[in-house]
Amino acid sequence: MSIGIVGTGISGLHLALGLRQSGLDATLYSAQGPDDLRGGPPLNFVTRFASTRARERELGLSAWESSEFDNPWMHVTVEAPGGPSFRARLPEPASSVDFRIYLAALLEEYLRRGGNWIRRQVAGRGDLLRLAERHELVVVAAGRGALTDTFPRDPARSPHDRAPRHLVGGLFHGVRPPDPPGMTMHMVPGAGEIHAPTYHSMDGRVTVVLVEAVPGGPFAELTDRDQREDPDRFAKELLGLITAYAPTLRARIDERAFALTRPVDLLRGSVVPVVRRGWARLTDDRFALAVGDAWITNDPITAQGANLGSALAFQLADELRGTPGPYDETFCRTVSERMWATAQPVVDWTNLFLGPPAPQLGTLLAAAADDQRVADAFVARLDRPHAMWRCVRGPDGTAEFIEEARAVRSTP
Ligand SMILES: Cc1cc2nc3c(=O)[nH]c(=O)nc-3n(C[C@H](O)[C@H](O)[C@H](O)COP(=O)(O)OP(=O)(O)OC[C@H]3O[C@@H](n4cnc5c(N)ncnc54)[C@H](O)[C@@H]3O)c2cc1C
Repeated sequence: MSIGIVGTGISGLHLALGLRQSGLDATLYSAQGPDDLRGGPPLNFVTRFASTRARERELGLSAWESSEFDNPWMHVTVEAPGGPSFRARLPEPASSVDFRIYLAALLEEYLRRGGNWIRRQVAGRGDLLRLAERHELVVVAAGRGALTDTFPRDPARSPHDRAPRHLVGGLFHGVRPPDPPGMTMHMVPGAGEIHAPTYHSMDGRVTVVLVEAVPGGPFAELTDRDQREDPDRFAKELLGLITAYAPTLRARIDERAFALTRPVDLLRGSVVPVVRRGWARLTDDRFALAVGDAWITNDPITAQGANLGSALAFQLADELRGTPGPYDETFCRTVSERMWATAQPVVDWTNLFLGPPAPQLGTLLAAAADDQRVADAFVARLDRPHAMWRCVRGPDGTAEFIEEARAVRSTP
């Protein structure tokens, strides 16, 4: 059996490393080698939760095990007069490491272990057909930009036809970590969200400031202009916006030191959330399966895309270990539906947070601010999408969740 994997993001690399560990024959294709992955602007600002970190341990990856990379606490503030605010310690710390470093290190490790990698930009369906001549299954883990035409959008699972947020952000000096240390999310009603996790990058420990703007709202003037031309002006305008809308974040910023770590460390864009059909026929008897963003793209508001990509890569590796083939339509359809059971709560929860404020979310945030047990239980669910979805999907689920959380005895 031979598997071709296109893409060296977290989905492709976790799958390739997992198959390599089991001695299965796989070849990884991507245009970018480790040095290319390390260079260029950031493409995301990823926080990995404990489940992803546990999978890394299973893969024998230990580079970010040390507590210096930990983000143990989550702080949530609704930035409005009298808005709820709470903080909670995650059951196990998350970790936020610049993906330019992370992915380059994973690819190097894969090569060190003797993994097959071919530097190749796979150019559309024609090229996928060529890979199908060499491999019994082609897994497309090429992210949201390329090769997605092969997998038609699934309208029943894709409520958005445009980006619900416009994004701009960067890596900054001059922001004090929150106390206790970790990640902060500032929700600004009608405007969007600002995320500010502590982040480990080429410049050591810095802070991400990522603005998620509701299109046409008060943050739009910042997100709708290309900021790469003038990074200093960007920092100044961002500070002005934080001062006006997110005072709890402003309180952590030293104005004189607030600056992008490097001009290149700036990200701008938007994500149209989409679920595609998870598989495609390439020839009479060869198929492609999509994983990660190539299959399901989520807005980063809930910090789930890379965590989901890793979870799906592991699930697919297990399926491949358990099936010698053939990797036909039945296999692809069945595996894709099983993986959908993993992905669905992430998609539903993320879409709920992107929509107009649901009344149960207001109830939930107020209850978390009021009772540490609720805050703890809510924050613990950031790494448990099924449980999170049960808790937020409707007023009854939220009421039940709050009641259960309040029934837990506080530890003395
Ligand atoms: C601002 C921002 C913040 C985010 N924050 C978080 C977070 O906190 N937590 C979280 O879990 N997720 C987060 N995400 C989402 C996360 O970044 C993605 O879900 C995740 O990185 C997707 O991984 P992937 O491997 O599926 O795809 P990608 O990371 O897109 O990897 C695709 C790979 O395929 C290669 N490739 C592409 N096309 C081709 C081709 N034609 N031929 C060969 N190779 C190709 C690319 O070079 C790349 O190496 C965030 C996203 C953004 C934009």
